Amino acid sequence: MNIIACARQVPTLESTIKPLPSPPFIDASGITYMTNPFDEYAVEEGIRIKERLGGGELTVVTVGPEGADQMLLNALAMGADRAVHVNVTEKNSHRLDSFAIASLLRDAIDEKGKKYDVILCGKEAVDNRQGAVGIELAELLGLPHVAAVTKLEIDSGAKKATARRQIEGAWEIVECQLPAVFTCHKGLNEPRYPPLPGIMKARKKPHKDISDVEMPAAKLSLKKLEHLPRRKTGKKLEGDVIQMTGELLRLLHDEARVI
Ligand SMILES: Cc1cc2nc3c(=O)[nH]c(=O)nc-3n(C[C@H](O)[C@H](O)[C@H](O)COP(=O)(O)OP(=O)(O)OC[C@H]3O[C@@H](n4cnc5c(N)ncnc54)[C@H](O)[C@@H]3O)c2cc1C
Repeated sequence: MNIIACARQVPTLESTIKPLPSPPFIDASGITYMTNPFDEYAVEEGIRIKERLGGGELTVVTVGPEGADQMLLNALAMGADRAVHVNVTEKNSHRLDSFAIASLLRDAIDEKGKKYDVILCGKEAVDNRQGAVGIELAELLGLPHVAAVTKLEIDSGAKKATARRQIEGAWEIVECQLPAVFTCHKGLNEPRYPPLPGIMKARKKPHKDISDVEMPAAKLSLKKLEHLPRRKTGKKLEGDVIQMTGELLRLLHDEARVI
């Protein structure tokens, strides 16, 4: 079974995002990166599918600048078998909309003569939040797509998958033929920490670097990033519990006008 996990780096919570008025639109100096949390579920699920089936290959693919290598190493240390890095420079990143990213992923995944069975993506990237790349990738490859799965069973013999997803008030259980694309949601699994032997082996695993790619035409172009309005500073209530409760009720009634 050939499994693909698509993963990208996103800023850590400690990063300071400073919008700029013109390209590249973000001042990267205060940003450190981590793996997109939903993509960790994708990598973990790929490893678990291999473990359950007792074999297979998991390739982790990213489109991103040089620094994305660290994220790939982490996935290899967790248990992925090989990595593919479509190297785009930081100054080009803002030009790539979700469709362009999906096109680059399609080209990277569609290696000649190599078949794939399961493609796993995150439900969304927690910074840009388009939640579109997995769906567009499925369309570009002409494959079925199941969104936001919280359980996935693979029948390698019948080449079928059964996926569970939460809808309003119920679980929806769907079945599809493989190959197919699944986007992974919280609850699917608990991503493992890379074990020490995995960390030692990671650098020796196959790592394909694809540079000088032609930038696909994007369907959206970023015009500007605007600062969010500053949050009003909070109010600290003083006094004992009775005084604070009275003041809280007054503020909710007179100022916030919610009661
Ligand atoms: C100003 C600006 C600067 C940017 N700089 C960077 C940057 O330095 N580095 C960077 O990586 N992105 C950068 N981007 C984001 C890049 O343009 C987005 O990856 C793209 O728009 C895809 O949309 P999304 O992030 O909302 O993905 P979504 O559609 O929310 O992603 C869903 C899933 O698709 C997969 N996926 C998405 N993107 C990728 C990818 N690149 N590689 C592999 N799998 C992927 C993941 O599994 C992800 O969970 C920047 C964007 C802007 C606006």
